[in-house]
Amino acid sequence: MKLSQIGEFGLIDLIAKHEPKLPSTLIGIGDDAAVLKAKNKYQLITTDTFIENVHFKLKRTSFFDLGRKALAANISDIAAMGGYPTHALVTIGLPKKITVKQVQQLYRGINSLARRYQIDIVGGDTIASPREVVISITLLGEVEKRHLLTRSGAKPGNLILATGAFGGPASHKFVIRNSSFVIRLREAGLIAKKRLATSMIDSSDGLMRSVLELCKASRTGARIYEDLVPIARGASLAQALYGGEEYELVFTVNKKNLSKIMDRLGKLVKVSVVGEMVPHKFGVKLVDSYGRIKPPKSGGYEHFI
Ligand code: ADP
Ligand code: MG
Repeated sequence: MKLSQIGEFGLIDLIAKHEPKLPSTLIGIGDDAAVLKAKNKYQLITTDTFIENVHFKLKRTSFFDLGRKALAANISDIAAMGGYPTHALVTIGLPKKITVKQVQQLYRGINSLARRYQIDIVGGDTIASPREVVISITLLGEVEKRHLLTRSGAKPGNLILATGAFGGPASHKFVIRNSSFVIRLREAGLIAKKRLATSMIDSSDGLMRSVLELCKASRTGARIYEDLVPIARGASLAQALYGGEEYELVFTVNKKNLSKIMDRLGKLVKVSVVGEMVPHKFGVKLVDSYGRIKPPKSGGYEHFI
């Protein structure tokens, strides 16, 4: 079977059946970050890789922005668990033609965020790559036990909320710009600390994929109302639903907490209700402006497809 037949998520399901054996592994494969039991807190670990011509084109992306984005994507996964980042390992694969100055710029980008979010770069690996630039960052973080938020706590009847707007990055394919991504660490921290959400994910692979993953982990279905989807300026509804790389937060809340969320989180960021969790048997569906219920067209951004 070819990878194109099962796609990234089919492949992960196939290879990632590893059941945790160590008593210290609280959550293994399947969330935004792994969760390990530590003394008073939980330890979080996540990793993300960016490769030239898949995620970005060097002609349209500066090394500074690439470095920032690679770290930002990881910070977003730690944030989505309700935690904060601490230590990073940075691996770079570089073709010989790359200049020292370009690598220094990449690190300037990484370090600018590392400083801002108090992350120590504690190691990594440097390798030659035959053709494309690759950057892979592993980020560790911590979360207070009572603040941990996973993908799996949503219940039917919960509202589905999202920060910011969607589709912006998809309408600028292959371009990484400072302005084209956000880091919702503060917002996620507030949601976690006030214990206002029942589940949370960051929307790296698109709004629809985020909802699918929350539903899969929580064993629920969902209705997403097309009219309620916050669409970035210049983007289409399809790009907003399926595009990806927004790094917004998608989370679920008990209806009785909605006004509290809107009051508190609304001061930091635009928050939209986009739909509702329903029982698992109803599946994950879209509702158009005429009230017609239909299946999503795609599962969001997926490698190999
Ligand atoms: P995210 O978009 O939040 O970074 P992914 O969709 O990349 O998450 O991954 C989903 C889950 O599958 C995560 O728990 C991740 O650690 C795990 N995963 C992805 N690829 C592999 C792999 N090759 N081996 C083991 N686990 C993997
Ligand atoms: Mg994620």
